[in-house]
Amino acid sequence: MYPLAERTANVLPSPTLTLDAEVKAMKARGRKIVNLGVGEPDFETPDFIKEAAVKAVRDGFTRYTPSEGILELREAVCEKFRKANGLDYGPGEVVVTCGGKHALYSVMQVLFGPGDEVVVPSPYWVTYPPQVRLAGAVPVTVETGGDGGYVLTPELLERAVTPRTRGVVINSPSNPTGMVYAREELESLAPVILRHDLWVISDDIYETLVYDGRDFVNMAMACPELRDRTVICHGVSKTYSMTGWRIGFMAAPREVAAAVTRVQSQMTSNPCSIAQKAALAALTGPQEPMERMRETFDSRRRLILDLLKDIPGFATPVPSGAFYVFPDVRGLMGRKLAGRTVGSSAELAALLLRECEVAIVPGSGFGREGAVRFSYAASEGEIADGLGRIADLVAASA
Ligand SMILES: *Cc1c(COP(=O)(O)O)cnc(C)c1O
Repeated sequence: MYPLAERTANVLPSPTLTLDAEVKAMKARGRKIVNLGVGEPDFETPDFIKEAAVKAVRDGFTRYTPSEGILELREAVCEKFRKANGLDYGPGEVVVTCGGKHALYSVMQVLFGPGDEVVVPSPYWVTYPPQVRLAGAVPVTVETGGDGGYVLTPELLERAVTPRTRGVVINSPSNPTGMVYAREELESLAPVILRHDLWVISDDIYETLVYDGRDFVNMAMACPELRDRTVICHGVSKTYSMTGWRIGFMAAPREVAAAVTRVQSQMTSNPCSIAQKAALAALTGPQEPMERMRETFDSRRRLILDLLKDIPGFATPVPSGAFYVFPDVRGLMGRKLAGRTVGSSAELAALLLRECEVAIVPGSGFGREGAVRFSYAASEGEIADGLGRIADLVAASA
C-alpha cells in the first residue's frame, strides 16, 4: 500500500453514522429493525421549504454563491439571533457552512493548532475529539457526573486547564445526554474562561428542542462579556428536519468569521446554492410546523422515560432537551441476557440489535462506558414496540 497521510490514522468513521448505515442495510434486507439509534428527526422537511428549493432550481439559482453564503441568508441568521437570543450580530460575523458539523470543523481549523488543548466535556458528541485532532490539537476530555446532570462545573474546567488550553466546547441541549445548561451554570464558568483566555465553541444545534418549560441559553447570552470569545455553531438540520440539505451557520467575531470564510473558499467554495434558498425559507417562514415537531418530540420523550422506568437495569436521568435519553446501564453489566454475559455498552447494544432487533448506540462512542443512548426520533408505535421487546428480554433473563 502507498502510505496515507498520518493525520488520517487517528480518524475513525463516526460510530453513529456507521451504525445508521448498518441498520439501514439490515432494513433493506427485510429485517424489521426498530431504529432508536438515529441522530436525525424522522419528519419530512416542511413543504414550504421544499418549494423554496424547487423555485431556486426553476429560477436558475444554480451557480457559485459567495463563500460565506448569500447575504439574504446571513441577514436572516442575524435576525434569528436578534429575535430568539437577543444577540446582535452583523452579516460580516456570520458564515453559512455545509452543515453544523462543517461549521465546527472549520472553526477548529481556524482557532486551534499543534500544541493546543481543547476541553471537551464528556459524554460528548462523537465528532468533537476527531475534529480537534484534525486541527492538530489535543482534545482533553473531562468526565461530568450523571447526578450533577452531566454539567461542566468551574471546578472541573479549572482542573482540566493547562497553559496550553485554548478552548472549551459546550453543547446544550446535549447530544447524547439531552442535558440543558441553566444560565447560572454557564455564568459560573465565565471567570475560569476569562482567567485562562479560552475560546468557547457553543454548539447550539438543538436550541429549539427544549422541554419542561426550560429556557435555552448559550454562553454569549448568559455572559455578554464572553461574546467576543464565543463562536456559536448552529444549523437547520435538527430544527427544520433538514439533515440532508447540509446547511449550517456560525456567528463569530469578525476576524474569526473572515478566517473561516477564507478556509471555506479553498475547501468547498460555498454551501449549495439551492439548499441556501431552502434554509432562507426555513428561517423566515412560519415557525408553527417546528413547534408541532417539538411537541411531538416532547410526548415521545415522556413515553420513552415512562417505559424505561419499568425496565430493571436502566437508570435514566430526565433530560430536558434534544431527542435523546442516556440511561446508565451499569446495573446490567456482568448480568446474563439471552444466555450471554453482558460486559460492555457495546456488547449490550449488539445483543439488543441481534435479539430484539432494536438499534441503540453504546455510550463508549460518546466517551461514557456503562451508558447507552436511545434516540426518540421515532414514532410512538416504534418506541413502544422497541422498548417492549427490551423489557421482555430483560424479564425473560431475570
Ligand atoms: C446533528 C448535530 C450537529 C450538526 O449536524 P449537521 O447535520 O452537520 O448540521 C452538530 N452537533 C451535534 C451535537 C449534533 O447532534
